[in-house]
Amino acid sequence: MDRIRMTTPLVEMDGDEMTRILWQMIKDHLILPYIDLKTEYYDLGLENRNKTDDKVTVDSANATLKYGVAVKCATITPNQARMSEYDLKQMWKSPNGTIRSILDGTVFRAPILVKGIIPYVSNWTKPITIARHAYGDVYKNVEIRVPGKGKAYLVFEGEDGNTIKETIHEFDGEGIIQGIHNTDKSISSFARACFNYAIDTKQDLWFSSKDTISKKYDHRFKDIFEEIYNNEYKTKFEELGIEYFYTLIDDAVARVIRSKGGFIWACKNYDGDVMSDMVATAYGDLSMMTSVLVSPSGVYEYEAAHGTVQRHYYKHLKGEETSTNSIATIFAWTGALRKRAELDGINELCEFADKLEKACIKTVEDGKMTKSLSLISTCKDPVILNSEDFIKAIAETFESLR
Ligand code: NAP
Ligand code: MG
Repeated sequence: MDRIRMTTPLVEMDGDEMTRILWQMIKDHLILPYIDLKTEYYDLGLENRNKTDDKVTVDSANATLKYGVAVKCATITPNQARMSEYDLKQMWKSPNGTIRSILDGTVFRAPILVKGIIPYVSNWTKPITIARHAYGDVYKNVEIRVPGKGKAYLVFEGEDGNTIKETIHEFDGEGIIQGIHNTDKSISSFARACFNYAIDTKQDLWFSSKDTISKKYDHRFKDIFEEIYNNEYKTKFEELGIEYFYTLIDDAVARVIRSKGGFIWACKNYDGDVMSDMVATAYGDLSMMTSVLVSPSGVYEYEAAHGTVQRHYYKHLKGEETSTNSIATIFAWTGALRKRAELDGINELCEFADKLEKACIKTVEDGKMTKSLSLISTCKDPVILNSEDFIKAIAETFESLR
């Protein structure tokens, strides 16, 4: 059988530990037999990041800007323990952080739903996608532990010499102060990424903040979203029959819980951090969460939401059997291949991606799954497979669908 040809390379970012092992298995069993795969390969494994002084991460992000679509394996973000484990020259920054800042992107996370794994919120029958603004606010804060009596001010010194000064609080005794910021540029990028992704996936977009209390800060977010929507996206949304709406975060939380799912919830940085963990847990399993970084210029980087599954990797190194779920990593590949197919007009490649996703879901619904899924599945007698046999079972299902 002829393998599907590609015209533009996909940027392939390899990674670390157990997910690096899965990466190769996925390519061997599910991709290479069917696709004449064209990738520009970047090894983001920690060893190579260290060897290249992390230049490889920057290069891979620039290649993504050039070609438009990347698929990324999970990578280690070094901490003190990794410094000695990998004999690192320095504590390299999180690759995701580096890539995100070069792409100026927003991260969208959505669960993969299968029958037999029932969300804790039983009316959630469709996925809820969380879009998290990934710049500023409390993540770039400046804090002071107030030692005692005194006055705190918020001061802005303009380059033009004009100064704005507000009193924060007159302290009677010890306390705390925090300064946070954001920029119109970053908020606008975030808004555009959200509107584009809503159009791309034909889903409603919700945005929430606390503008009733934060009358300048959060209100600015609300205004920027509204302005950009009205000027650039309203017509397209109406054409597609999708909706943008803003609501107070308190109201959004209540509506989300009562909803059926099937929309994008755009959140400020902190809200997105907290809510994405809540939503992921409520849908069942971290290993069933997909993640895509979308830049305001329409560049896409697909990955699994989970990490390198270190504990399983150490078992694997000891020669013990592992049962690691590869579905989110497979969906990173199908997401990237589908996007590449759409951009290049390759129908077969689009169909391949759809069919491979179907095969993943059908395999689990047929009762064949990895250990962690079996623990939350309502399936009576699940067959628990090891990491490689699970991928082989997906390949078999895929063949049966052809
Ligand atoms: P993790 O790799 O997400 O794994 C945490 C635990 O979740 C695992 O020990 C496992 O539980 C379960 N799990 C996650 N994915 C699974 C899968 N596909 N199949 C089965 N079980 C799965 O997080 P971590 O152990 O905290 O972090 C490990 C490394 O990943 C760290 O170095 C971190 O820097 C990195 N990381 C990278 C990314 C990224 O590249 N996007 C994201 C997060 C973390 P059990 O052990 O109970 O089976
Ligand atoms: Mg978090």
